[in-house]
Amino acid sequence: MERTKFSTLDQLKDQITKEMHKDYFFNGEVFNPLNEGWWFQFDNGTRRMGQCSIHLKRISLSRKMCELNMNRWDLIEDILLHELAHAFTEKIYGKESSGHTPQFRRIAKSMGSSLLGSMIPKSFGLRVPYRYKYRCPGCGGTWERQKKIEGSCRACSGSNIYDPKFKLVLVDEAL
Ligand SMILES: [Zn+2]
Ligand SMILES: [Zn+2]
Repeated sequence: MERTKFSTLDQLKDQITKEMHKDYFFNGEVFNPLNEGWWFQFDNGTRRMGQCSIHLKRISLSRKMCELNMNRWDLIEDILLHELAHAFTEKIYGKESSGHTPQFRRIAKSMGSSLLGSMIPKSFGLRVPYRYKYRCPGCGGTWERQKKIEGSCRACSGSNIYDPKFKLVLVDEAL
């Protein structure tokens, strides 16, 4: 049995490096990421689980996501294989095909990943940070939104009718 519990990101990175030093096969093609110049690092992503940068030959995983799922190697491995599949797809079919294409899905599946499309942050414990934060001048309540909103506090306005006294004020913008 391979170890599946990690207490530090360094230990996790060791395991990831091992995975990247394996031969993966598809349709008679072989791919050994590490031997072919690919490298790994953790990134600061909170909206995506990981990234495959073909330009930099870099595979990265969200540090935050890894910390939140440290004891779930099955999950982290699944995401890692998804990212590596992008690299393998690029190697065989070129950059244009390396997105979530049918070719990609076949390769990801053959590598053992069950994640064949976009990954939703919430499913991995990641909370997508707000872009806009509003406060009601009446009750002080706050609203975090992905999109800009215009309106008044429903609690204070007492109905859905717009009340300028309780117009929500933009207090923070996280872009
Ligand atoms: Zn992907
Ligand atoms: Zn209010």
